[in-house]
This record gives sequence, structure tokens and C-alpha cells, in this order.
Amino acid sequence: MELFDGIIRETTENTAALISKTWDFDAADTWECSERSELIMQRDQAFELGGSGTSSANFTCVTTTQDLVLKDEVVLCGRDLPELSGDVSFARIVFLGVKDIGDEDAAHAAIQQMEFVRYHVHPKGYMVRVSAESNQERVRVSKDALSRGLSFRQIGNTYIKAYKENENVLAVRIIFLTDQDIIKELNSKANSVFDITNALSHILDGIDLDCEHCDLKAVCDEVEGMREMHLGKKGKK
Ligand code: SF4
Repeated sequence: MELFDGIIRETTENTAALISKTWDFDAADTWECSERSELIMQRDQAFELGGSGTSSANFTCVTTTQDLVLKDEVVLCGRDLPELSGDVSFARIVFLGVKDIGDEDAAHAAIQQMEFVRYHVHPKGYMVRVSAESNQERVRVSKDALSRGLSFRQIGNTYIKAYKENENVLAVRIIFLTDQDIIKELNSKANSVFDITNALSHILDGIDLDCEHCDLKAVCDEVEGMREMHLGKKGKK
């Protein structure tokens, strides 16, 4: 699964100079979670990440190229939660290094399974609202959680722990960005990730291999390996 490698490389390069902190994964330093999404009332919130019309971006990329995700790590670009005092632009990006998953169907099923984590991690005092259509994520952070010392370190560890419950996941790099100009640009990368995943679903649904008349041609022209994947799928029929 190398379809997202270009996006991972570019994002890694473009965010490298913005890194303010990194933490190695520590499974013992996670944050308590709720079973379901909790409601934080406006009067109890300290601020919102991606709130008040600020930019927000969210995407997850899977790769079997092991040197792109070397270890389990939480990365922060910008200020940490205790350092924030008002709504800021926000992005959360996840790179998952995975085992060679097998054929296209298995790879797609694995991506969906991993996406599940996005909607099922509910740290207490950190209310996530996801917009699947716009690839945006807005987070309401409670005053109480901040007073108890919540930081991106624990949020990142909590997500990584959840991803690593999947035996196909070898390494996870999670990047949080706050108040950074690059977030708008990352939003267009999130759209590309969505387009690639969508194209993969269509290929697996068995659309005809007719590139000249295919709506997905722009994606396949851009992404290395996409056309080969369709050819491979066709060859198996
Ligand atoms: S390989 Fe050709 S037919 Fe298949 S999805 Fe891409 S553009 Fe469409």
C-alpha cells in the first residue's frame, strides 16, 4: 500500500520546520476515555480547536513503506493545550505504518478498520466533532480537563494505543498542529486522501477499466500505483 506515500513525504517535509515538541509513545501516559462522545457545554469549554471559523484539517494515511513511519511518536507543531487561551486553527494528521496487508480488498478493509479509530476515541474533556465530508475536525476542550493537565502528549498516546490494537499496525506517527498557516494547505491534502480512498473503493466495486472515459482519471494520473491496482484487480477476474 504505497498510494499515500507522496502525501506522507510532502507533509513530513512541509511540517518539519514547524515542530515544537515530540514525545515517544508511552502506553502508560494516556488520558481517560468515555465509552461515547461526551457533551461539553459552552459554559464549560476553555476553547475550541478549529472553532470560530478557523481552519481545520484531518487525514489519515496508511503505508507499507516502513521508513516513512519509523516509530510510535506524537508530534506537535505550534502551542500545546495548556498554552492556548482561545480558539485556534487546528489539524490532526496520522501516518500508519502497516504490515503488507495483501491484496487490494484486504488493504481497503484494513483502511476502513483503521478509520474506525477516528470516530471511536473519546478522551474525557476533549469533545471531537468530525465532518467526514469536509475532512475537518473540531475539538471542544473543557476547562476541567485543562486544570487536570491535559496535553497533546496524552491525547496522542491515547490515539496511538487505540490504533495499535489493530495487529496490522506497526508504527503510528500522529501530528497535531495549532495556529499554523499551513493548515489551509493541509486541508487540500486531506481532500486528496479522500479522493484516493474513494477511487480505491470504486476500483474494488468493479468499475470498468476504461481510463479515457473514467471520472477518476485525474486521481489516477496523479497517484502512483492506482492504475496498476485497477489492472491487477481486473486481471484477477
Ligand atoms: S485505472 Fe483508469 S479506469 Fe481505473 S480508476 Fe483509474 S482512471 Fe479509472
